[in-house]
Amino acid sequence: MELLNKLSSDWNGIKEIIPYGFGWEAGRCIDKLMQDFTIPFIIDNDSSKEGTDYKGIPIMPWSQAKGFIENKKVVITTRYRQYYKIAKSLETEGYAYGTDFCNIKEFIPEWYWKNKSKCCLYTVDMTVSAKCNFKCKNCNMFMPYYKTDVRYCLEDLKVNIDQLFKVVDYVCYIGFIGGEPLLFMQLAELIEYIKANYSDKVGNFTIHTNGSIKPSEKLINEMKKYNITVAISDYGEQSPCRDRMLDTVVYLQKQGVYVDVRASLEWRDVGFPMNPHHFSDEEMEHHMKLCSADWRGINDGKFYYCNIAWSAEKAGLITLEPDDYLVMEELAKDIGKGKESLLKLSEGHFDKGYMSFCRKCGGCGVDNTKLVVPGVQL
Ligand code: SF4
Repeated sequence: MELLNKLSSDWNGIKEIIPYGFGWEAGRCIDKLMQDFTIPFIIDNDSSKEGTDYKGIPIMPWSQAKGFIENKKVVITTRYRQYYKIAKSLETEGYAYGTDFCNIKEFIPEWYWKNKSKCCLYTVDMTVSAKCNFKCKNCNMFMPYYKTDVRYCLEDLKVNIDQLFKVVDYVCYIGFIGGEPLLFMQLAELIEYIKANYSDKVGNFTIHTNGSIKPSEKLINEMKKYNITVAISDYGEQSPCRDRMLDTVVYLQKQGVYVDVRASLEWRDVGFPMNPHHFSDEEMEHHMKLCSADWRGINDGKFYYCNIAWSAEKAGLITLEPDDYLVMEELAKDIGKGKESLLKLSEGHFDKGYMSFCRKCGGCGVDNTKLVVPGVQL
């Protein structure tokens, strides 16, 4: 496969890996990695973790670990800023990306495809509510601009999940998103359904919420039972009800739920739908690459490279082109090819080089310099 080529050939057949970073991201994938690899130790530079272990695997800082690292493959189990910091420090010491180390989100699809012929994704998001109780002017899912009344029921979402797992072998974590996902009243039942039917195919879940709605007792029980992360967006002073959000954080923490408050200092204004961009054919491929969108979506029985594009169409604002997404039922007709096609799209491989909606969308890359205050309400 053309695009799954970030790892050098000597990663094939490896039996041992060293995870670097033992925070939230590692928690999403460590058990899966332990099933399939020997992990002699985990690297983490947080002094409070030094000398501790995870299920018998010692955790040690890089200063100690580097004495044992020769000829070993390191998988960085952190993302975003933290990932770049670790990658840079390894490169400074002479280790090479793709040969000596790589990123978990690239390792999972590539290694399992090449070594096990399995279609494994690090993460995929699923919209459970196309409604929101906020009206963020620059919502990147365009919720305030929906022209249609979209409602999901439990049965729709179960079918969506069934279609996903007909093709996909494993997902480290599924993100439930909206709109506001806590407006979907049967989230607990959906989680139970996934766990009952696909517990060997999914590592964990994250619920992305604005924190303004307290989850039901039933849902809190599910959160605790399955160690689900509640990722709460903090829009700061612009939040329509920040006090309520802070109350929710304290309430969930008291209940023993893992809460990850994500403060947004700025958003990139994608322009759409009020001031859509008009990128030319020549600009498109580069523009999409710079964006490097990190949000795959499974919605309505279709797999999307970018959930933003799905939402723009669902809102009734645009019509996507047929090769902008994959229809899961079609992929399931030839599973081998279906898995390959899904991995290709997930890597951003489009036959024409880009996804059509990128023409109108400013994206999140460095070519979009229009920064806006998050959470400003219409
Ligand atoms: S530029 Fe394209 S890939 Fe990036 S957010 Fe916009 S639609 Fe998605």
